Amino acid sequence: MTTAGAKDWRSKAPEPMINMAVARACFVRCPGCYNRFSPNQDLISNDDIIDFLRFASSRGVRKLTYCGGDPLTRPNIVELIRRTNALDYKIKLDTVGTALITPAKAIYFGSGDIPYVKLSDIAESIYLFAIPLDGHNSEVTLKFRKGRDELFDEQKKILKLLVGFGCNVVVHTVATQDNINHLNCIGHTIHEIDKNLNWKIFQFSPNGPIAQRTAARYEIDVQDFSKRALEAKQYLSGLGHVGKISIAPVAGREGIYLFIDSEGKAWRPEDSNDQYLGSIVSADDRPKIVEHVIAANINRVKSAN
Ligand code: SF4
Repeated sequence: MTTAGAKDWRSKAPEPMINMAVARACFVRCPGCYNRFSPNQDLISNDDIIDFLRFASSRGVRKLTYCGGDPLTRPNIVELIRRTNALDYKIKLDTVGTALITPAKAIYFGSGDIPYVKLSDIAESIYLFAIPLDGHNSEVTLKFRKGRDELFDEQKKILKLLVGFGCNVVVHTVATQDNINHLNCIGHTIHEIDKNLNWKIFQFSPNGPIAQRTAARYEIDVQDFSKRALEAKQYLSGLGHVGKISIAPVAGREGIYLFIDSEGKAWRPEDSNDQYLGSIVSADDRPKIVEHVIAANINRVKSAN
């Protein structure tokens, strides 16, 4: 029973969300990459993903993030997005975005030529595009995301393309030792692209096997992070920025994720080891996986209160 007037996270309608890596390869190579790459190079099929999503939808899940690697490196990504949209999911696309402006090479956890993806083929099906920008110039940008020399200019071009198309966009910045003193300038760059752009600033998290190995190189103190991120937020308010600015310290993100890797295996990130929950291809495992999606969301709603 709820005490009248008491703050109760249950009163907020929860929106359970799935994080699904639908690709393994990426356009860039981040030494602080947070992903868990499956050792299996074969990707789970569109049919298996859609079957699982139909099941999850019957249990109340309506939101998902397609990530990777980079989801745009998946060979049949347009078809997958359209079929997912037909199931009435709100789709967030967590992508570097490179293929939206040019055919490109996959260079990390995969290789090969990735074709250009026409924005008009997917724009209407995507609820939110999440695009990284970690620097205010090429030098700072390339300290975290390596492998594409023109990345800073490309990210600006991608953001302008999405804004011009009327897409809903959030810019993701991972705050590290390399850019923590440049958050105002990164914010300024975002504001110059469009004053309505949403911006989310993440404290670098040593989460996942790759990021754990490079933690000493990128990790920053939470107090320093909060101070600088707040300063950047205030700086942008002073410029008349309209987009929402969110600040995400590591502590508020614990227990809120469940990852499904590119072969369909579901993992819950733990402090030192990941907990394996099962495969989305298995009818026996699906209920347990969806239960965890809902539990992770409850933690997300709690941490936002
Ligand atoms: S953009 Fe960086 S963090 Fe994201 S999947 Fe690619 S390598 Fe990993």
